[in-house]
Amino acid sequence: MKKNLRIVANMVTMILVAILVGGCPDNPAGPTPTTPTASITCNGQANACVVDLWTKPVIAWTSANVSGCAVRRNGEALSDWGTSLNSSRQLDAQMTSGMATYAVECTGPNGSAIASVAVTVRSGRPAEFRISNGLTNTPVDARVTTIATSYQTRGDGSLTIDEAPSRFNVTIDAPGYLTYETIGSSDRTEYKLWPVNSPNSEDGIKQMVYGDSSAYNNPGLRAMNRIDGPVSFYFSAELATNQAVIGRYETGVPLLAAAIKNRWPLTVIEGTSPLSGTISVMIQIDSTISTAANTSMTYINGRAISGIIRFKTLDNLSDYYIRHENAHVVGLWHHEGEGLVGRTWLPSQLDYSPAEKGNMQMMVWVLPPGTIWPYNDRGAIGAKASGFTGTVTFRD
Ligand SMILES: [Zn+2]
Repeated sequence: MKKNLRIVANMVTMILVAILVGGCPDNPAGPTPTTPTASITCNGQANACVVDLWTKPVIAWTSANVSGCAVRRNGEALSDWGTSLNSSRQLDAQMTSGMATYAVECTGPNGSAIASVAVTVRSGRPAEFRISNGLTNTPVDARVTTIATSYQTRGDGSLTIDEAPSRFNVTIDAPGYLTYETIGSSDRTEYKLWPVNSPNSEDGIKQMVYGDSSAYNNPGLRAMNRIDGPVSFYFSAELATNQAVIGRYETGVPLLAAAIKNRWPLTVIEGTSPLSGTISVMIQIDSTISTAANTSMTYINGRAISGIIRFKTLDNLSDYYIRHENAHVVGLWHHEGEGLVGRTWLPSQLDYSPAEKGNMQMMVWVLPPGTIWPYNDRGAIGAKASGFTGTVTFRD
């Protein structure tokens, strides 16, 4: 019985197959063919994308059921892009104004597939540059390099780039100045370079401003800390009645104010309370410290908030030590050169050296707190610099 049923079932199947074949005489024999497909994107977007000037979008494509693909830009084959079936590629050249169409064409035994994506560039605005010496404000001719293009200033330190994105990385080079990496924008025109002139060297700047450990007692390169407002020096109860000590401050602090060209008021208070709203710096004797004197400064994002200057003994409150420690209040580190904070200090030298003055002026007049070495301000795209928060002790 079971056997008979199976025979009947087989016969029904054969009849059905015969009907189907008879009903579709043109149907080819063999498996159904696979359909070739292709797709292409710009920065992950299909069909179209909009990008900023000078950026380099990523073009990616995928395909199936094909044996090879080629990419064309505005109809022209990009032969060096290869024949991969699936790939992605960041453009070698930055985008300039206009529109470009990228198309992928894939072919195989079952036919071809084509897909395209349109890349439109946002229009830019003119970018004006006025490049000058950060200390003297005199024009400096420089080479200005954006992502891929270099421009030379006109001979008076100025340059116009007709079409630029709203923000862009820029590197500025000129002989006799530190290379400056910063952020350019259509709203910014002033770019101030840091002069490297004898006796101020690149090493000296690294030591004095960025704490490079090639100088004595420095901790190593770090983001720049500095004062960013008025300072008041005041005294412990023990020192507040010592007119000789107060007198040395009243002659020493104006030298520091002159060194920074009076960027901020520096006030000596003959008493035990700082002026409110100032960076308060207390002066005291502390016999427990290991050196003749030290300065501890507290910063928030590289901006000085307060400080303490400690002297081991009353005798250590000399003109030299007072003026040396005062420079630490501005954020100046030790260095190997001449000057009140230099290793080669001479007892006759009671004012800051030209290099010390120049570097302190660059710090307080030109550079934002948190600027990092190499001379790369924290605004530069990708620099990711952040000002230091905490307390730093300048040893001795
Ligand atoms: Zn020191």
